[in-house]
Amino acid sequence: MKERVVLYSGMGTGHLVPTVELAKLFLRHGLAVTVLVVDPPFKGHSDDDSFIAAAASSAHPSLSFHHLPISLPPNSPTDPVILMFDVLRQGATHLRAVLTSLSETSAVHALVVDFFCTEALDVAAEVGIPSYIFFTTSAVNLASFLYLPILHSTTPGSFKDLGDAPVNFPGLWPIPASHMPAALQDRNDECYKRLLFHFERLPRFDGILINTFESLEPRAVTALRDGVCLPGRPMTPTYCIGPLIADGRGSGGNVKHECITWLDSQPKASVVFLCFGSGGSFSAEQQKEMATGLERSGQRFLWVVRAPRNDDPSNVSEPDLEAILPEGFLDRTKVMGLVVKSWAPQVEVLAHEAVGAFVTHCGWNSTLEGLCAGVPLIGWPLYAEQRMNKVMLVEEMRLAVAVEGYDKGVVSAAEVEAKVRWVMESEGGRELRKRAKAMAAKAKEAWGDGGSSQAAWAEYVKVLKSGGDE
Ligand code: UDP
Repeated sequence: MKERVVLYSGMGTGHLVPTVELAKLFLRHGLAVTVLVVDPPFKGHSDDDSFIAAAASSAHPSLSFHHLPISLPPNSPTDPVILMFDVLRQGATHLRAVLTSLSETSAVHALVVDFFCTEALDVAAEVGIPSYIFFTTSAVNLASFLYLPILHSTTPGSFKDLGDAPVNFPGLWPIPASHMPAALQDRNDECYKRLLFHFERLPRFDGILINTFESLEPRAVTALRDGVCLPGRPMTPTYCIGPLIADGRGSGGNVKHECITWLDSQPKASVVFLCFGSGGSFSAEQQKEMATGLERSGQRFLWVVRAPRNDDPSNVSEPDLEAILPEGFLDRTKVMGLVVKSWAPQVEVLAHEAVGAFVTHCGWNSTLEGLCAGVPLIGWPLYAEQRMNKVMLVEEMRLAVAVEGYDKGVVSAAEVEAKVRWVMESEGGRELRKRAKAMAAKAKEAWGDGGSSQAAWAEYVKVLKSGGDE
């Protein structure tokens, strides 16, 4: 009988990309993998996600994708975060049938689910298989999220009322309340309640796999390992098995993307790459400031520009560059820069020797990809847990600088120019580059012989093969 692992991916590229990489790890042990996915209720960049899934399953015959059927009632909530929770929860109602059916032809060793799909805990218990969480962001986020239910029951009020006052998490450094995720700002908000529900369930899984590596986040890893982050409550084992990032091939098939051809003709470490994840977009006003700042910096750039979404997640139309960018910008900068519409093969771009800095929204995959490429980061957090990531990257790890004003409205052209110049031209920027390169070497070591992630993975596989009892 074929041995199998079932993964339930969270929604969106940021969850699917590392889930596919996790699937590849299982494949290396001769396990077949079924990845369960749900289609986003709004279009988003689901075409890119379909491409990622198709490329992975055609390269790996033992990897299959299964779409869980979703039909939302007409009066479904309009908030995209709530909608995401509803869709994932509805997807979970099909888990029992899927697991039962797969068990007829294979021995299912485990159910590994995204941290927004914790409803799966009950199904796995009923079916009698071990269940694990795949945590697709940092150990710092995990350690603080695990503590939130305790913080909730021991303190009154909401983060939104605390401004920049520090929130203390055991074993971590203080995080300004304003930098906790938007969905957690108001404890009366439905998003907050849903998140708390998931956070409370995390320690009840048989273990948590985290897409990070020990030398990147030593304090948080220790807090998790020693259970410091969850005082007085039982903690489950954690396994830091990152960085799991795509290899950068497969993103465009055999066709070389125009931006890679362009990078081929640029000097080493000379290009500032700007890309803001699968969902990041800016107002027209902000894009113009960004353009002006880039132009004034005099630095070469490769910029992925999206159509302004105007708070409508379904707006994924191609950007009209002439309308979005300042008049004459494309013409004036064509020797120094390249603007790409909507999407670039980021991992491949970051690995290119011409890239000298990365302006990023601090999404966790982008962060890991930038660090693995040894590129200094300029943080510009936008949504989800990105402000927390920025605090860690800038203040704790000193692997990034951030643009001033990202939390106050529009970041000025002068600020964009200043930060780009600082990273590319100053002594401080050179130091930042050195630290980034050193961290890239550590990332490599984590999966090298005797590396911490390799060891954590070996330990996890041992537990898995023993039926979760070791
Ligand atoms: N990505 C890409 N090209 C783009 C934008 C995003 O390849 O133009 C990939 C990026 O490499 C990363 C993922 O999409 O693997 C985005 O994940 P992340 O966690 O950084 O951000 P999110 O999209 O979840 O906000």
